[in-house]
Amino acid sequence: MTPFEAATFFFHKAADRLRLNDHRREILASSYRELAVQVPVRMDDGSIQVFRGYRIQHNGARGPYKGGIRYHPSADLDEVRALAALMTWKNALIDVPFGGAKGGVQCDPRRMSSGENQRLSRRFTAMISYVIGVNRDIPAPDMGTNAQTMAWMMDAYGQKYGYTPGIVTGKPVELGGSPGREEATGRGVVICTQEATKRLGTDFAGARIAIQGFGNVGYWATQLAAQAGASVVAVSDVGGGTYNSGGLDLEALSRHRLESETVAEFAGGEKLTNEDLLELDCDILIPAAIQDVITSRNADRIKAKIVVEAANGPVNPVADQILNDRNIVVVPDILANAGGVTVSYFEWVQNIQQFQWELQQVNDELHKRMVAATDAVFDRSESEKTTLREAAFDIAVDRVAHAAEIRGYV
Ligand code: GLU
Repeated sequence: MTPFEAATFFFHKAADRLRLNDHRREILASSYRELAVQVPVRMDDGSIQVFRGYRIQHNGARGPYKGGIRYHPSADLDEVRALAALMTWKNALIDVPFGGAKGGVQCDPRRMSSGENQRLSRRFTAMISYVIGVNRDIPAPDMGTNAQTMAWMMDAYGQKYGYTPGIVTGKPVELGGSPGREEATGRGVVICTQEATKRLGTDFAGARIAIQGFGNVGYWATQLAAQAGASVVAVSDVGGGTYNSGGLDLEALSRHRLESETVAEFAGGEKLTNEDLLELDCDILIPAAIQDVITSRNADRIKAKIVVEAANGPVNPVADQILNDRNIVVVPDILANAGGVTVSYFEWVQNIQQFQWELQQVNDELHKRMVAATDAVFDRSESEKTTLREAAFDIAVDRVAHAAEIRGYV
């Protein structure tokens, strides 16, 4: 199953439950616009490398298209198309006034110099500049991109169209970024997990948590989960993982990572692989790395009672069914990782108003929205006797279908 087939699978199930008519289903099942571009880049050794880039706008019924830009070797048309559709549902569920989009360049940023990365980002921005805009489509960071990438994108766009901070979100705070955006996805994951444990009648404080992935999302989820009283027993990154049944010493771990650029080989824990981490005996498992890590191959060996999808699409549809059958609660990606785009919305609002909010206001508003969306998903799942993913998709698809209908699309 390709990433797009997986994302579409959950959509069609929701369309069945909501009894969407064929026209609506057809409109919501495919992208509104798919732009594929070539991105030629002068490499440091003088050669030219031609990368493939994409910006996919899935649905704009609820507002301007919104979603991140991914730099990754696997970021092809199918993957970006899947992620664009997930953004439509995520934005509708968390109730920000955006449609869904995603972009990507198929490249390996870890093997590129900063200069090569900057030239790639500027050229890619120029190539997609015709379809983005403050009121049209607003990119943001995703895997392989960060605030620096957004600064280059804003600058490249500004060279053509004049100063336009609202063209991207997730910018450095000095350039009009929002306080709290950097940690927002991780913070949202923790707020959602706390609310979920409350609804499930278990304790977050003292819960043993394993987190796969130590990028922006995994790093902040780790720090904030520990601050909120959970015991983070395992973390991992591309180099491997580390485990301590009594809870990891995160300060010592951060020092180790600064020196060796990976969490693996940490003296304060036992070594384990990324695959082992998923199968650990723990209370809450948070896959925060990439898609498709919990599949039919390992779903029957997952021991956590709750799986929180901090990454996009980490549990594939077959594994989802296996976990459901085993009564393991899956908190779906379109809910769990919606904190990032929520604070992107606040950033966009601040840019339009030319007024910066304080961190406390950002965090309070994020908290309010994450709790409201989590409760709405639990309420619907309880009243309709569905899984949390089904409830989340039902709410989101219903909202987008309704917006499309009253606009007169269908
Ligand atoms: N890339 C993030 C996501 O998958 C954030 C998107 C945004 O802020 O627009 O939700």
